[in-house]
Amino acid sequence: MAAKKPARKTSPKKKSSGMPKDLLDELVASNHILYDQGVVDAFGHVSTRHPSHPGHFLMSRAIAPKLVRPADIMEFDAQGEPVDQRGREVYIERYIHSEIFKRRSDVNAVVHSHSRGIIPFGITQVKLRPVFHNGSFLYSGVPVFDIRDVAGDSTDLLIRDNKLGKALAESLGDNAVVLMRGHGDAVVGATLAAAVIRAIYTEENARLQATAMSFGGPVNYLSDGEGATMEKRSRGGSPRVWDMLKSRVAKR
Ligand code: MN
Repeated sequence: MAAKKPARKTSPKKKSSGMPKDLLDELVASNHILYDQGVVDAFGHVSTRHPSHPGHFLMSRAIAPKLVRPADIMEFDAQGEPVDQRGREVYIERYIHSEIFKRRSDVNAVVHSHSRGIIPFGITQVKLRPVFHNGSFLYSGVPVFDIRDVAGDSTDLLIRDNKLGKALAESLGDNAVVLMRGHGDAVVGATLAAAVIRAIYTEENARLQATAMSFGGPVNYLSDGEGATMEKRSRGGSPRVWDMLKSRVAKR
């Protein structure tokens, strides 16, 4: 029988109320992976639904994703407000996350980025469509949210409140990605791995589609049937991809 451990007076390294360490580590890794893969730069953020308070979510305080550590993760409520702010700066656009979690019970992670390759598809009439198997989740359609339609033409394009967040979430509908005109996108998934991998492949699909279109001829996109079949089979994503992405950002 193992020796009895001495009782601790305080709980060890308590980060905040009820945040499981594995999920915190996964969220921190997600921040680093999105930077490593060029999806986010100094801006952009990733969140995950709180496992024991499903209306709440977890996200870093307002710092560059590359610099996020477990101690930076904060809990936010269903209104997108911090539960225990303690003077920490929070992302202005946290309402992207709160309103999507509110509207989509199937979604457990959200990525917001300004990934470069997708911008042209938010400002032209060209629709972002799946051009390769890794982009199959785009088959259901990629709506473009134009903040001008909701809040006029003098905004700074940022999702600064619940009303704008709600309008964006409605524009997303049941799809995986919504483009934000002249700004970026929001990508969702059933898990952190799924949302992060989709954000990476959304960017890659955009670049490949632009290349294909530059050749001048018609582009042979995936069909809806192919997209639907692939999504059904790849549900949950490939652990092979996620393990590789994590290994690239793991501390040595
Ligand atoms: Mn933004």
